[in-house]
Order: sequence, then C-alpha cells, then structure tokens
Amino acid sequence: MNIIIKETKNKDKGVFANKNFKKGEFIFGYDKGKIVTRKDFKKLTEWELVHLDELGDNKFEVMMPPACYVNHSCEPNAIQKGRKYFALKPIRKKNEITTDYRAKGIFKNKWRCNCASKICNGYVISDFFALPELSQKLYLPYTLKSIQKEYRKIHSKKKVKVLCGGKFNIVHKGHIYFLEKAKEIGDTLIVIIANDAHNKREYAQPQTRRKKIIENLEIADKVLIGNEKSFVKTVMKVKPDVITLGYDQKLPKDCIEYVKKNKIVIKRIGKFGNYKTSKILRKKTFKN
Ligand SMILES: [Zn+2]
Repeated sequence: MNIIIKETKNKDKGVFANKNFKKGEFIFGYDKGKIVTRKDFKKLTEWELVHLDELGDNKFEVMMPPACYVNHSCEPNAIQKGRKYFALKPIRKKNEITTDYRAKGIFKNKWRCNCASKICNGYVISDFFALPELSQKLYLPYTLKSIQKEYRKIHSKKKVKVLCGGKFNIVHKGHIYFLEKAKEIGDTLIVIIANDAHNKREYAQPQTRRKKIIENLEIADKVLIGNEKSFVKTVMKVKPDVITLGYDQKLPKDCIEYVKKNKIVIKRIGKFGNYKTSKILRKKTFKN
C-alpha cells in the first residue's frame, strides 16, 4: 500500500505516505464518484457538498475514498490530475499527503485554514487566480481546462481587438452606451462607419461628417469608413477578435462565413433606454 488513512491532529482523517515518493511519482488513484451539476447541490448531504471535485463545465464529482480524505495545505506536496494523485515534491514515508484545493478553485468562497504551513495566513479563498504567480504556474498543467484557457488569455500579450459598426447619422445616449460597452470588452475598439452607399435614409449625413462625430467622442481607438461594396472586406482588413452588435443589429450576411472560419466572437450589447435614431428623428419631425 502506498498510503494509509488515519486521524490527523486537527483535521479529522488524512492520507499519509506509506513509503517515500519522488517528485512527480504517482501516489494513488481512486474510483469515479457521483457526478452532479449545480442544480443537484440541494440534494447532496453536507459531507458530499464539502467533498466535491470540480470537473469543469458545471460538473462536479463527489470524491470517493481515499481522495476525499486528502486535506488542503497552502504548501501542498501532492496534486491531482484526473482521478490520480502525484507528488509535487519528494514525500517521506509517514508524512501527510496534502493538496492545494485552490488549484481548481472557481467558487471564490473563503474558509478558515488550519494547514499550519509557514505561508498560511489562516484562511483560503478558493480562487486559482488569487494564488501567487508561482503557484499558478506550478498547478497550471493539473487544473481545469477553463482555468487554463483563462490563464492563457490573461498572459497572452495579444491585445483583444473589438470591432463594431453603425450608421451614426446622429449620436444619442444609446450609441454612447453601445460604444463604451464594446470598448470594455477588449483592448482596442475599431468603429466602422457605414459607407454612404449603405446609408440611404432621408436624414443621412455624409460619411466624413459621421466619422468625425464618432472620432470626437474619443471612445474608439480608430474610426474607419466601411467598404463601399461589402462589409466583410472591412472586417478582413481589421481582423477583429470580437464583433459587437447592437440590440437591433444583425451580422451582415457576407460576414457569416468569415466570422465562423476565423472564430471571431460575436457579442451582443443590450439596449440602453428607449433610444433609436429613426424614432428620435420622427418625433422631431412631428413637433416641427
Ligand atoms: Zn493554509
């Protein structure tokens, strides 16, 4: 037997090494437990609830013995990958095997910690991204796919380019809300002003003027006039990571294929108040 289960001094049962382990060595594996989603939580016992293992995608597993007896430490000597535990550092026989519950921490809940390690500050926040940089790096290969993805996003130097478009014949509060929200999504915002060829309303303003108005708002990092023939040509030029659409906008048909192929993220921005250019202008006309 690689391990033994026995009472600890202050944390109920614990898992202890029954031999010396080298760094990276397999320690033990365990059987699959009950798989649940968040909506099943209310059906679980208290014991099951505190012995859940995050599997990602809103799936959780009630941990089976001996995994359920592995205690948390802020300075752990083991880590889990799938249903297996591995030594993070050499472990001597009789030492307790501990793991850092924050390695898969997504709940951001806080609990008291009595792991007694030197670096423990008495509590734990179950949040991978609240861990010190070095721990994040160490746990990264073992953690959830969703956390790995977010980590890559945070650490990639690549700036997220957001594109949005519109006619902008007048600018109302709804537009400002839309542009500000679009800007929040990424690092740079590029606004495409519809080409005059696609702006045929009776109240249409010339494209150069509409461009100037948006530039003067100083929300966008760049304002461009859309291609006369097709919107996709402009999208291809900008190469955005994200395209934002207003509540009443549709992705132009000629873009659908390109967007899919290049995995451009489409984000819809909700409506702000009751602002719509055509409505505002109609009201004005009636008043006059
Ligand atoms: Zn601790």
